Amino acid sequence: MFRILKSAIRNHKFAVASYATQSQPLTSPDVLYTGIFIDNEWHKSREGKNFATINPTTSEVIAHVQQAGPADVEVAVKAARSAFKLGSPWRRMDASDRGVLINRLADLMERDKNYLASLETLDNGKPFAMSYNVDLPMSIKCLRYFAGWADKNHGKTIPMDGDFFVYTRHEPVGVCAQIIPWNFPVLMMAWKLGPALSTGNTIVLKPAEQTPLTALYIAQLIKEAGFPEGVVNVLPGDGSTGAALAQHKDVDKVAFTGSTEVGKLIQKASGDTNLKRVTLELGGKSPNIILSDTDMNYAVETSHFGLFFNMGQCCCAGSRTFIEEKIYDEFVERSAERAKKRTVGNPFELTTEQGPQVDEEQMNKILSLIESGKKDGAKLVAGGSRYQGLPGYFVEPTVFADVKDNMRIAREEIFGPVQQLIRFKSLDEVIERANATEYGLAAAVFTKDLDKANYIVQGLRAGTVWVNSYNVLGAQAPFGGYKMSGHGRENGEYALQNYTEVKSVIVKIPQKNS
Ligand code: ADP
Ligand code: MG
Repeated sequence: MFRILKSAIRNHKFAVASYATQSQPLTSPDVLYTGIFIDNEWHKSREGKNFATINPTTSEVIAHVQQAGPADVEVAVKAARSAFKLGSPWRRMDASDRGVLINRLADLMERDKNYLASLETLDNGKPFAMSYNVDLPMSIKCLRYFAGWADKNHGKTIPMDGDFFVYTRHEPVGVCAQIIPWNFPVLMMAWKLGPALSTGNTIVLKPAEQTPLTALYIAQLIKEAGFPEGVVNVLPGDGSTGAALAQHKDVDKVAFTGSTEVGKLIQKASGDTNLKRVTLELGGKSPNIILSDTDMNYAVETSHFGLFFNMGQCCCAGSRTFIEEKIYDEFVERSAERAKKRTVGNPFELTTEQGPQVDEEQMNKILSLIESGKKDGAKLVAGGSRYQGLPGYFVEPTVFADVKDNMRIAREEIFGPVQQLIRFKSLDEVIERANATEYGLAAAVFTKDLDKANYIVQGLRAGTVWVNSYNVLGAQAPFGGYKMSGHGRENGEYALQNYTEVKSVIVKIPQKNS
C-alpha cells in the first residue's frame, strides 16, 4: 500500500511517527451530514427511524443517523432509475466528461483530506496516520484511475462467418446497489464508485451501519462536484436496508463487500428475484508462506504488517503464517517480540499503530476466538486479552504459535489482531495445506529462490499472491477471490467488466452494390 508503507516495511518498522509533520488531525471533527441522500438532496427516514454511530475508542455515541427503510429504498431506486433513462443528463454526457466529474470528486476529497481522515478515525477507530496516509490517498488515486478509463472502455470489431461483421458495445449495467463494509469505509466507497461511474451506471450505495459518516460527507462532495441528481444516492442503514436493495426487482446489479455469510444471502436474493448481476468480495483465511532462505527481519516485519494492519480487520489479512521448520523457532520468537512492541492506543495520536476494533460485537468475537485458541492447545506467545486502559473496544496484539490446521483459529476468519504461526516441512505439503480452506482471497510467499516462489505461486488458489510483500494494493491491480471469497475483480481494467453489459451488434455487409 503505497511507497510510504513500502519504505516503512523496508526499514523494518512502521514509521508512523514520521507522519507527524504532515498533518494534525481534527480530534473532534464536526458531523455535518446524517441524513439520507437521494437526488442530490438530504432526506429524513420515511419511517422516522434512526440509529447511533459509536466512537469505538470511547464507546460513546457520535451522532444519530437516519435509517433508510423500504420506503426510502423505493424512492432511491426510482431516482437512480430515472437518472439512468436514455436522454437523461447522465446518459447524454460525453464519456470524457464523466471522467472530468470523477476527477473533480477526487479533487474535493483532496481538498478535504484532513477532515475526511479525521472523521474516518472518529467513526472507525483506525489510526489517523493510516486514514490520512493510506485510506484517503488510495481512495483519491482510485477515483483518478477510473476517471481515466471513462472514455477508454473500447469494444471490439469481430469478423464473423457469412456476410456480417460484429462490433461490441460496453454498455452500463444500469442501477447498481453497492453495499460496503466498515473496515475501509472511504476506500471501499471509492473502489465501488470509481468503476461504476466511469462506465456510466447509476448508484444506490449503502455504507455499513458502524461507519456511515464519511460516506455521507462524500455524498455532499458528489453534489458539489456537479454530478446530475440521482446518479449517486447514499442510504445509511443496517443489514435490512442492504437486504431490501438486494431483493429489489428494479436493481440491475449488486456489488457487495463483507462477510461470506451475507454474500450468500445476497446471491440468493438475486436468484429469488430478478437474477441481478452480483459481484462479491468476501472473507478470507489467507496463507502467508515463509521459506527458510528469506530475510528474517523483513519477513517477520512484513508478516506482522500483513496481519496486524488495520487492527487485523482486512479481508486479505495473512491469518495463517506457515513457517518452514528450520527457522520456525526464531520466527516465533521475533514475531512475539514485534507484537509486544506494537503501540496500541488513541488513534488520534500520531505514534499509534493500533486503535480499537470497530465495535463491541467484533471485539467479543475476537476475544472468544482467542479463548478457543487457548483451549485448543495453541501456544500463546503474545497478548491474549482485551487491552485495558482505554474504555473502547481494544484487543491486545496477540500471537499464537504451534497452531494446528484443524483449530478454529486456523480455519475461521478472526478479523482481529491475532496472528497464527504454523510449522511446515516441504513445499508440496504447504501448498496443499494453504489451499485447504473454503476461502481463496489472497496469499503470500517469502523466499529468495525464484523457482520456489513460482512453484508456490502456481499452486496457490487465491486471487492475489504477494511475493516478498503483503497487503500491497493499488487501483491498477485486480483484487478479488477464488472459491468462497467471492467473484468478480475490483480495481484495474477487470473492474470495468463488473459494471458493463456487452452488446453484440451484428451488421450485414452487402456483397454487391445494388
Ligand atoms: P460484518 O459481519 O463484518 O459486519 P457484514 O457482511 O455483516 O459484515 O456487513 C457488510 C455490509 O453488509 C454492511 O453494510 C451491512 O449492513 C450489510 N448487510 C448485513 N446484512 C445484510 C443482508 N442480509 N443483506 C444485505 N446487506 C447486508
Ligand atoms: Mg454482520
